[in-house]
Amino acid sequence: MNRNQVLPQVELSSDPKALSRIDFCAPQSYQGAGFLEISVLPRVADEVSIIEPGDGFHWQVMTHFADSPGTQPQQILELVIKGRLHLVCQGCLQDCGLDLAQESRFVMVATEDEADAFPMEDDQLEPLVASQHFDLLGLIEDEILLSLPLIPKHLEGACQARTASFGGGKSAEDASEKPQNPFNILKNMKKN
Ligand SMILES: [Zn+2]
Repeated sequence: MNRNQVLPQVELSSDPKALSRIDFCAPQSYQGAGFLEISVLPRVADEVSIIEPGDGFHWQVMTHFADSPGTQPQQILELVIKGRLHLVCQGCLQDCGLDLAQESRFVMVATEDEADAFPMEDDQLEPLVASQHFDLLGLIEDEILLSLPLIPKHLEGACQARTASFGGGKSAEDASEKPQNPFNILKNMKKN
């Protein structure tokens, strides 16, 4: 019997607050999509250098029950995240816009023990402990954090400091045009 044909499918709210309490113990499957601004993702907000208009993450969630021989059908959760944020580039220390995309699949299990015992050879499928108040928002935020590059950098050659030094003799000239020491400016003003 295919349980998906009998179980109701519930549309997830795109409200971030509602997403932090989802009942994954109920006999129903879910689908939904939405957009999360950086401001509702406090741990991501801690990582970003600036927030520009349009920064944030589109998410899409679908769950279904997969029949597995000898056990209860398992709820599978598929999560797709796509978005943009700004981090400090480790090449030039300027803000760097990064596009991220992440797709993950999870299986809902009943207990921590079951999660620990989950066969790790299948790294395409990670176990999650189901609860009546599952923090789906927290899971989305975890996945965004996991998809961040260890060393954020502009694309090759796009660093602002690098391109400035490519001008050969010009960079020495630029260096001599440094803004004047404010005390020297003050001195000159007094002389006049
Ligand atoms: Zn850079």
